[in-house]
Amino acid sequence: MERVTLRTIGVVGSGQMGRGIAQVAAQSGFDVLLHDQDATALDAARTFIDSSLKRLVEKGRLPEGARAETLGRIRAVADPGAFAAADFVIEAVSERLEVKTRVFAALDAACRTGVILASNTSSLSITKIASATRRPERVIGMHFMNPVPVMELVEIVAGQATSEGTLETTRDLAKALGRTPVTAQDYPGFISNRVLMPMINEAIYALYEGVGGRDDIDAVLRLGMRHPMGPLALADFIGLDTCLAILEILQQGFGDPKYRPCPLLRRMVDAGHLGRKSGRGFYEYGPEGAPR
Ligand code: NAD
Repeated sequence: MERVTLRTIGVVGSGQMGRGIAQVAAQSGFDVLLHDQDATALDAARTFIDSSLKRLVEKGRLPEGARAETLGRIRAVADPGAFAAADFVIEAVSERLEVKTRVFAALDAACRTGVILASNTSSLSITKIASATRRPERVIGMHFMNPVPVMELVEIVAGQATSEGTLETTRDLAKALGRTPVTAQDYPGFISNRVLMPMINEAIYALYEGVGGRDDIDAVLRLGMRHPMGPLALADFIGLDTCLAILEILQQGFGDPKYRPCPLLRRMVDAGHLGRKSGRGFYEYGPEGAPR
């Protein structure tokens, strides 16, 4: 594949991740087309990005003039047809295969032939998503971490048909966005969740079986292994429903009982105790999501 200069990045989905990706791309000098099916999510993303840039200015990490300039590079588009002008597209819509395949089929129709379509999925098969398009060699995983402006890693996921050229362009883009790319093959959980989720699940089992209390388990990993937060606090941060969904994908994908989600995790999800976002998980949270 010939090396192309990327100028305009399309971002689909303006939730937690999409707005962060749009901000980082605009801060890195790219023009951004940001689309969401929900107009209020698009408005909210703009407000969120503006206040995030404002905080960077206050902390002296961004010159005042750059705030308006950066925001000016992001154009919210209601019609996905506008992606005909995009040189590279990153999808960050809800983590449901049927939603993603529908979005990829629409992007395949709207985008120019050579354009790479990347998914920010944390657990779904890139190979399956790619099969919804007529350009599977140009479909790839670009798994940013949350919160995007802060986290350095991008896990690049190569599907069965992803070409070397697509991989190279995507790695270059990740670097141009100031991130560090790491490449993983398209198997359940990639590298990040394949390693992280069994640890979180095991910590929940340790609590369930009474090996230790909540604070003991988190303290062992924080103070003994220098993790910035304990696994139970991290599970709350990610969302217990998300943790359960990823563990189920690992269990089904490998057919291996070692990924069996802990019954306590299931019970908490059934109760609606989803972590920070619901105000209660292993810990309790105030209205701003701060631990109580
Ligand atoms: P979110 O719910 O905050 O945002 C999803 C957005 O997608 C919503 O604004 C929704 O309106 C929009 N959307 C849904 N269907 C759409 C469609 N058909 N067309 C256009 N927009 C549509 O979710 P999120 O946390 O930002 O996650 C997005 C993706 O990023 C998921 O694949 C998730 O697995 C992945 N991810 C999330 C995290 C995390 O910690 N939240 C981390 C890494 C990767």
